[in-house]
Amino acid sequence: MKQCFGYIRVSTPKQGEGVSLQEQMDDIRVFASRHNLEVIDWFEEQQTAAKSGRPVFNRMLKQLQRGQASGLIMHKIDRSARNLRDWSIVTELPDQGIDVYVATESLDFTTRGGRLTADMLAVIAADYIRNLRDETKKGIRGRLKQGLYPGRAPLGYLNNGKGLPKTPCPEKAPLILEAYKLYDTRQYSLRSLLQAMTDRGLRNLNGHPLSLHGLETILKNPFYAGIIEVKRTGETFQGIHDPIVPMALWQRLQDLKAGRCGPKRTRHNHLFRGLFRCGLCARPMSPERQKGSVYYRCQEPSCQTKTVREDVLEDAICRALASYELTPESASKLARRWNTEQAKLTDANRKTSLELRIATTEQHLSRAADLLIANTLDEAVYLEKKREANLLLAALREELQKLPDPADIAADHAEVIELMKSLMRLYQMLNPDEKRVFIENTLSNRTIVGKQPCFEPSPWVRHVKNGSYVSFGDPSRHTDRTFRPPEAIKRLFEQYSEDLEKD
Ligand SMILES: [Zn+2]
Repeated sequence: MKQCFGYIRVSTPKQGEGVSLQEQMDDIRVFASRHNLEVIDWFEEQQTAAKSGRPVFNRMLKQLQRGQASGLIMHKIDRSARNLRDWSIVTELPDQGIDVYVATESLDFTTRGGRLTADMLAVIAADYIRNLRDETKKGIRGRLKQGLYPGRAPLGYLNNGKGLPKTPCPEKAPLILEAYKLYDTRQYSLRSLLQAMTDRGLRNLNGHPLSLHGLETILKNPFYAGIIEVKRTGETFQGIHDPIVPMALWQRLQDLKAGRCGPKRTRHNHLFRGLFRCGLCARPMSPERQKGSVYYRCQEPSCQTKTVREDVLEDAICRALASYELTPESASKLARRWNTEQAKLTDANRKTSLELRIATTEQHLSRAADLLIANTLDEAVYLEKKREANLLLAALREELQKLPDPADIAADHAEVIELMKSLMRLYQMLNPDEKRVFIENTLSNRTIVGKQPCFEPSPWVRHVKNGSYVSFGDPSRHTDRTFRPPEAIKRLFEQYSEDLEKD
């Protein structure tokens, strides 16, 4: 009988208590007995399948790849691999000699047609998830348009459930208003205001004194003046909740904080301020507004470099980013190469020797069982041998487990490669502040020569482009061989990765 793992999952912990989990197990058991398969271990996942990186799924893959079972029985595709990344791993298992069965769908993974059907089912599952996300977003937008804030109430307001506006908290709302009024007196710096408000008893949601950042967030959140702002997109909606702070006061504070009396603000907000230098005289390219457009100018009057318009500069940036992107072909080639390279880096010898010992022990065990069946081995002796072998096997497997996990490393590779496939698209999704961070971390030697923007890919981008090994993860053992994208880039990528997947 072929030994298989059974994989079952439920979307929420609640469902896990009910029938559904049991039903899935029963279906798999029936399927197994019909196909002469034996389920030697069960893997139960209780998270949503929409995102990859599920611990049980990963653990199961690892054990499969280590040969601890020769097959996998899943209950249903849309329950097991909604995420295409996971699914693509599953569909590759047959190539590694691991048979994949789906208990409720008749799919033959050994034929091309069967695998095509399976792939199509997976694509449909992925589409279903995307649709679900859109619907959720629509729901959120709908509420925003009604003037309802779908998130957690900001400090000073109380939550009243989904369909109802937030209401001012009788204790905290007066303190918020007081903070605004005190700052408006111009007698306080942020720090001294923080002290004053802490003395007056203002605490955050956890009951701790506010941080400086927390106080700043309160002073700039237009929610207190009745406006809902969606930070990520910069969109605003008129809320139907009662304001705590009069709009005029809120507005005055924003001006105060920006340290301005008149409308001088644009000076601080130009997209590429401080990011480019003149390529001829090395002076900074300073932004200025002329006839409704922003230009960046070299401040040296005699210099050949004059001005370049902001949108021209941004076009050049987009083109450059697009040219650094990996094509789908080079991406998959690179993924394969990195994985082979990583396999070499990890303790290949140790892994092989452990696997060999496991295989030998298993062979001994099965030979002993044969002898038992053939009545040439005493049952007591057999049981003793079996106990010893199982203890040894457990120890060996545990040691094998502790070796670096190829699945984690592969996921990390996939992430960097995904990022490199969509540099420009990611850039275009960002807000101005994020764009600045992105440029600082992907382009270096940024200059303007004459009218020509010039820059180079940052070292890590160049590395990937050249096919060198790059990793997000902790490459503690091989730091010299790796080159990591900056944390800021990783954060931006993760923040927008769902949107990237959608297109
Ligand atoms: Zn110049």
